[in-house]
Amino acid sequence: MQFEDLEIIEPIIKALKEEKYSVPTSIQERAIPHILKRKDVLGSAQTGTGKTAAFAIPILQHLFLDRQRNNSPHKINALILTPTRELAIQIADSFSTYGKYTGIKNTVIFGGVTQSAQTNALKRGVDILVATPGRLLDLMDQGFIRLKDVEYFVLDEADRMLDMGFIHEIKKIIAKLPGKRQSLFFSATMPTKIVELSRKILNNPIKVEVSPVSSTAETIQQYLYYTNRLTKNDLLLHILQDKRIDQVLLFSRTKHGADRIVRNLQKKKIKTAAIHGDKAQNHRQKVLKQFKEGELRVLVATDIAARGIDIDKLKYVINYDIPNIAETYVHRIGRSGRAGEEGVSISICEPEENAFIKDIEKLINQKIEIIDDNPFPQTDNPMTATEKQVFEIEKKRRKQEFFSTKNQKRPSSSRFNRKK
Ligand code: AMP
Repeated sequence: MQFEDLEIIEPIIKALKEEKYSVPTSIQERAIPHILKRKDVLGSAQTGTGKTAAFAIPILQHLFLDRQRNNSPHKINALILTPTRELAIQIADSFSTYGKYTGIKNTVIFGGVTQSAQTNALKRGVDILVATPGRLLDLMDQGFIRLKDVEYFVLDEADRMLDMGFIHEIKKIIAKLPGKRQSLFFSATMPTKIVELSRKILNNPIKVEVSPVSSTAETIQQYLYYTNRLTKNDLLLHILQDKRIDQVLLFSRTKHGADRIVRNLQKKKIKTAAIHGDKAQNHRQKVLKQFKEGELRVLVATDIAARGIDIDKLKYVINYDIPNIAETYVHRIGRSGRAGEEGVSISICEPEENAFIKDIEKLINQKIEIIDDNPFPQTDNPMTATEKQVFEIEKKRRKQEFFSTKNQKRPSSSRFNRKK
């Protein structure tokens, strides 16, 4: 099947050709015809499947044809809601790329930066608005944005939206949308809460499902090293001796962990940088650009920050820690082997994470290949469940003790006000 077979208009086909998209991906092939027929769609697809183009192409086509019939001033006719800033930027870029010959204008708004550039763009007039929920509500409250002209609404990465606690924001935004609209709802996973939310948004939707989260992309080769907590860094350096690993996205569970990994790799002259929630937006964009252009070998990211990263042909993903939620593992490794490219994921597991591997293997229904050629094999014992419980209780007690002493008022006899 070709894009032409999906009855996509010439100005968009021309842009896709320039992007060297030859055939539609599965989600595109299945969703685009329904969206063009103005049906609501409930799409179950993870990132890397080409889902952005699956909704961007038909929306651009609708807007282009609508404008041919009725050339009114630019108003926000389409709203795309997405959880993270990186993802928002990526989606807006995709609209610009596929829509470059359509004259349809888009802009993107997200928090963490000053709003003036965003409000100026809005004042100039746009057809498509890509937004994260917080900044959208903020600008709506300030009167910069009204949603009364929205005809096409996309809720992207709905599961991640709920994980990030955006449910109230989403409900507030939906309440402001016109009832007569076409809605598209995408989520990688479909737990009950998501299905309930989709019912509030969609009207008699067509369900389109591609590679559910439990079926890991077949093109990704998955490897596993068992090691100890204290040898992870040395093992990472050993892995990176392989010069074929020239561009790797490395996941760290915490921001502090991410910064520590960067420092350790930089000490060994490995070009590395981190992106996570504590980094300023312009820093994140700069780092991402350097990584895409091959100036950095390792990009360290937390799960949320990595969500919006879209790098064509990213081959390697390293899990510096094993996520305790098995779906997160699938999201992570899905960053390699994008759109049918071959990918490799390497996971580094310490004793306490052994149990997480079992959960992951259950979810993906396959065994991850263990690498025996490992100079730092696992020798420590994992804690038993009881030991772990005792450890956690003790940790909590110490924390409480620490804060209660910290918050205690200094006694009046402290040396600063002792009577002379
Ligand atoms: P997404 O799942 O939307 O994040 O897209 C994943 C990647 O696939 C992006 O880098 C897109 O540029 C790319 N892509 C999307 N559709 C196609 C296609 N039909 N052919 C080739 N690459 C595509």
